[in-house]
Amino acid sequence: MRDPQRKSCLVTGGAGFLGSHLCEQLLECGHEVLCADNFFTGSKRNIEHLLHHPRFELMRHDITFPLYVEVDEIYNLACPASPVHYQHDPVQTTKTSVHGAINMLGLAKRLHAKILQASTSEVYGDPVVHPQREDYWGHVNPIGLRSCYDEGKRCAETLFFDYHRQHRLRIKVMRIFNTYGPRMHPSDGRVVSNFIVQALRGEAITLYGDGLQTRSFCYVDDLVDAMLKLMGTGDAFTGPVNVGNPVECTIRELAERIVAMTGSRSEIVYLPLPNDDPLQRCPDITLARESLHWEPKVPLHQGLESTVRYFERLLSRQD
Ligand code: NAD
Ligand code: UDP
Ligand code: UDP
Repeated sequence: MRDPQRKSCLVTGGAGFLGSHLCEQLLECGHEVLCADNFFTGSKRNIEHLLHHPRFELMRHDITFPLYVEVDEIYNLACPASPVHYQHDPVQTTKTSVHGAINMLGLAKRLHAKILQASTSEVYGDPVVHPQREDYWGHVNPIGLRSCYDEGKRCAETLFFDYHRQHRLRIKVMRIFNTYGPRMHPSDGRVVSNFIVQALRGEAITLYGDGLQTRSFCYVDDLVDAMLKLMGTGDAFTGPVNVGNPVECTIRELAERIVAMTGSRSEIVYLPLPNDDPLQRCPDITLARESLHWEPKVPLHQGLESTVRYFERLLSRQD
């Protein structure tokens, strides 16, 4: 007989950076994992060590198309997350967030399954309230280059709450702030992977703007821990809940830290700030602390060290 604690979990986007760590952790907890991914930004390499696991199954699937499977819980992570990738085919990005959410919500409705949405701090846009709390409605450009992602994710949140109100679906919405760690795509243009790869290759570190814009960086293990905790909350708790590391740092500081850590001779070069690039971003995680009993544990220097080691190994294989 199946262990009643054992859940069957669908992870969309499971071959991506966050998704692959989540699949790993769900297996570790004894669950069955069905990973659905169209490999747009994810790769088989991220999950190749799981392919022979008896409780792991991989399917190539694009969530903008309907999906008929049988599961208890759905983690909806499928969506390109870096500005370079989500702006490459912006129409597909909106379709993934919106059609993808409708399909996954339809699936959850048929199965009476719990469903978690990987939303984003981008729903706050370029915030005028600082730090950002969940009751802040945001400051988002609806027609800019980042809108396909920001507005797509906002519409997905709307769909989650309408399915909850209209069909009593059990939903969990997590607003993820910048997260980093091993298995980030080396050329997806996100700042941590860019700076580490540039530093390790001795190439110029590309700092956009004056580098005084801020972000707060959460290590992937902390993020996955929060995701499992959120899925485990009672049905009355829907979120949205901010998850991220509230320690804010300027992008210039991050560049200097990575250069020092890697002992690199790379120089920092200043390039123009992309349009609509938020100047400040930092989560207020009071709600996560109270309702998930969660806070990040991995300090930036420690998380950066393991990320640098990952990229050292990756680049040495590529050379
Ligand atoms: P990622 O690009 O590494 O992973 C996304 C995965 O989704 C990839 O494996 C990709 O192939 C897959 N995918 C994309 N479109 C798909 C589709 N139509 N059908 C099926 N699969 C599809 O990005 P990530 O950093 O792992 O992000 C995962 C999720 O978390 C995303 O929804 C993202 O918006 C959200 N998020 C991430 C961060 C972060 O800092 N990493 C911050 C906020 C939100
Ligand atoms: N859907 C799916 N798997 C299912 C059930 C539904 O992919 O197991 C998709 C289907 O494409 C549908 C969408 O989810 O269009 C929304 O489903 P819902 O039941 O909310 O609406 P309807 O079927 O009435 O369009
Ligand atoms: N950034 C940078 N150099 C890079 C990549 C990014 O200075 O090579 C900056 C970018 O302009 C932004 C910050 O770093 O201010 C975070 O960028 P990322 O794309 O990682 O995430 P997001 O802007 O979505 O928070």
